[in-house]
Amino acid sequence: MTATTALRGQYDWPTEQDYGDAHYRLDFYGPDDGYTREQDTADEVTVAAYHRRNRAAHAPQNGCSECGMDRHGHGQRWHEGLGFGGWVEPTDALRKARTIARRMVAAETARYRADQAAWRAEVASWAQAERDAPTMPVEDIRAGDRVLNHGEWMEVLDVDRDRPASPGGAWIRLATVSIGFPAGHLVPTRRTPEVTP
Ligand SMILES: [Zn+2]
Repeated sequence: MTATTALRGQYDWPTEQDYGDAHYRLDFYGPDDGYTREQDTADEVTVAAYHRRNRAAHAPQNGCSECGMDRHGHGQRWHEGLGFGGWVEPTDALRKARTIARRMVAAETARYRADQAAWRAEVASWAQAERDAPTMPVEDIRAGDRVLNHGEWMEVLDVDRDRPASPGGAWIRLATVSIGFPAGHLVPTRRTPEVTP
């Protein structure tokens, strides 16, 4: 769903992706990027609808249509635009919208937890690979060796031994990153061929 469909219906809830996109544009796009006042407004509506969605997901099915509070214990409350008043019966559309919001939030939470678990497993596999790998003192590493970086064997492009940041050690440059090691550090390293005659 896009920001424009969020404008169409009160209970046409934006997804987390819609919210993220809108939030990103509001934060980083400006007039120089051809971003118009209309897009700005549409994104603000999407962000507001997303927050309404999250509140709706946590409101009881039969909560007050204005504030989400359960009928029991509602009493007299301030409702924006209405002033003080009692519990207001939610429409069937709002009850249904709350169910949809609850499912959306539950699905996003489940996806987030699965992503976190997968990430933790991946990081653990990197750590295991480092424990299993052959090592070499940083002093011995040279260009062409392969060092283990986040689970991936990467070629050493060059070795800088003169950086003051790692006295006695070295900075090892890989395709994507440079890593500094202190003197004597044992680095997971492979040399090909492993044994020279
Ligand atoms: Zn209320």
